[in-house]
Amino acid sequence: MARYTGSVCKICRNEGKKLFLKGTRCNSVKCSVTKRPYGSGQHGQNRKKLSEYAVHLREKQKVRHTYLVSEKQFARYYQFASRKSGVTGSILLQTLESRFDSVVAAAGLTAGRKQSRQLIRHRHFVINGRTVDIPSYKVKPGDEISVKAKSSDLIKSITETLAETPEVKWLTVDKNNLKIRVNALPEREEIDPTIKEHLIVEYYSK
Ligand code: SF4
Repeated sequence: MARYTGSVCKICRNEGKKLFLKGTRCNSVKCSVTKRPYGSGQHGQNRKKLSEYAVHLREKQKVRHTYLVSEKQFARYYQFASRKSGVTGSILLQTLESRFDSVVAAAGLTAGRKQSRQLIRHRHFVINGRTVDIPSYKVKPGDEISVKAKSSDLIKSITETLAETPEVKWLTVDKNNLKIRVNALPEREEIDPTIKEHLIVEYYSK
C-alpha cells in the first residue's frame, strides 16, 4: 500500500478529532483542529449526512490513523481479533494498544506514537534486555521496557518537554530511570472511551 505522505493535520480535521499525530504541537494552540475545527479543503465546512457505510468506514479509518497502521495491517489485526474468543472489538483495541509504539507513547516517554515509532526504529529501546526495533511488537504482561544507556539523554530531553501524562493502570512507569513494566494487557475501560469499535466490527462484517 502506498504510504500517505500528505499533511497529517488534514487527517485529524477530516475525522473531526485530534488524533495526536504531531507530538507536542498537538497540545498547543497551533493544533489545526483547534484553529480550524472543520474538514479540510474548499468544501470542508459543508456538513453532509453520512451513509451508514460511511459512518462505519470513518470510524475504522479514524482508529487506523490513530494507531498509525496500514490498511492491510489493520485488516490483519481485525482477523486476529475475530478468531479469538471474546468481544472482537475489545480484543482489536487491546491488540492495538499493546503495540510497542503505543505503550511507549502511553507511558509518556515520547510525544506520541509517531515519535515512539521513529525512536524504536532507531534502536533506542530494549525489551527484557534485548533491542527491539519493531514498532508493532506486541508487548506481554511481565515485559520490562527500558532505554539504552547511550540514548537516555535523548529520551530525557524529550520527556522534559512533555506535559504530565495521565496514569496508565496497566503499566508501571518509572520516568526517572526511563523504565516501563507491563503489568497486564489493557482492559477496554482503560482504552479511549470515544472509540466506537462496534462500528469497525460492522464494517468488516459486511
Ligand atoms: Fe492532529 Fe496534532 Fe495536527 Fe492537531 S496538531 S491536527 S492533533 S496532528
